[in-house]
Amino acid sequence: MVVIMKPDASPEDIQYVVRRSHSLGLKTHLSRQDARTFIGLVGDLRGLDPGVLAGLRGVERVQALTKPFRLASLEFRSAPTIVRIRDVEIGGAAVVTMAGPCSVETEAQILETARGVRDAGARLFRGGAFKPRSSPYSFQGLAEAGLELLARARDETGLPIVTEVLASEQVPLLSRYTDALQIGTRNMQNYALLHAVGESSMPVLLKRGMMCTIEELLLSAEYILSHGNPNVILCERGIRTFETYTRNTLDINAVPALKELTHLPVVVDPSHATGKSSLVKAASRASVAAGADGLLVEVHPDPENAWSDGFQSLTLPEFADLIGEVKRVAAAVGRTA
Ligand code: PEP
Ligand code: MN
Repeated sequence: MVVIMKPDASPEDIQYVVRRSHSLGLKTHLSRQDARTFIGLVGDLRGLDPGVLAGLRGVERVQALTKPFRLASLEFRSAPTIVRIRDVEIGGAAVVTMAGPCSVETEAQILETARGVRDAGARLFRGGAFKPRSSPYSFQGLAEAGLELLARARDETGLPIVTEVLASEQVPLLSRYTDALQIGTRNMQNYALLHAVGESSMPVLLKRGMMCTIEELLLSAEYILSHGNPNVILCERGIRTFETYTRNTLDINAVPALKELTHLPVVVDPSHATGKSSLVKAASRASVAAGADGLLVEVHPDPENAWSDGFQSLTLPEFADLIGEVKRVAAAVGRTA
């Protein structure tokens, strides 16, 4: 349920509705849009008479939310949410490209990649220090040493950094180093982790579970929003289908479908979605044309010798070429890049 305040409602009117909602055992989530305050109500709404709130001073109307995800829905907020990662805005007019290697490996690798992607036009640098690998014998990441290298890359290039968090206990440590937390496909339904990042104020890049529906993705986002963190970016990264030529199947439908359902920004990871560097450019073009707010692209100075995901990583020259394409497609659909 959402209480929509009149444009001329005073701060006292708003506070009164909030206090009244709390006294009914509900949590409140405030959002501003078109000069109005929207007060989202979360909790046990069974038996709540909307008239109790509709009659309060400054209230325009009380609206039921019909989707199972509430705070994430367009019914709750029709204006696009812009998530800021330092000075970079995701969800606005510009298509934002985040790039970097799958894993942080060495200082030389990380600095060369960070400088290269910045010079080509990336706005955010992404690399994994804690890696969720299918096999326990595969490289698991450099852990805190990797976070230190990422922070060095930010100091050198000015690019804000994004890195993956694997467990709730890691949130405080990672928040000291990084500018945004990635939740990977394998953890999209790790509810303890969603709860923990929901209680932090860090921007969260939430990747779609490889076997999860669009609605499940939005319900996972709802966990984060309902714990108080509004800074969620959704990421389509391909889903598992019967197809084996590609690593995953890019669900391009997810982009316009999510735009019909949510105000949250949507980005696409064409690297994991295809698993083949030769397909990344076409998948990126399609994603931007379909309305994605950004891309997450794996780049490595020497993909053949990468410690993880080299087969889907672009070289630095290939990445520079990709950025040119992204700019052209963005312009064709009325956006910048
Ligand atoms: C990654 O981004 O390197 C990664 C592990 O992605 P995903 O969780 O989508 O597999
Ligand atoms: Mn990867």
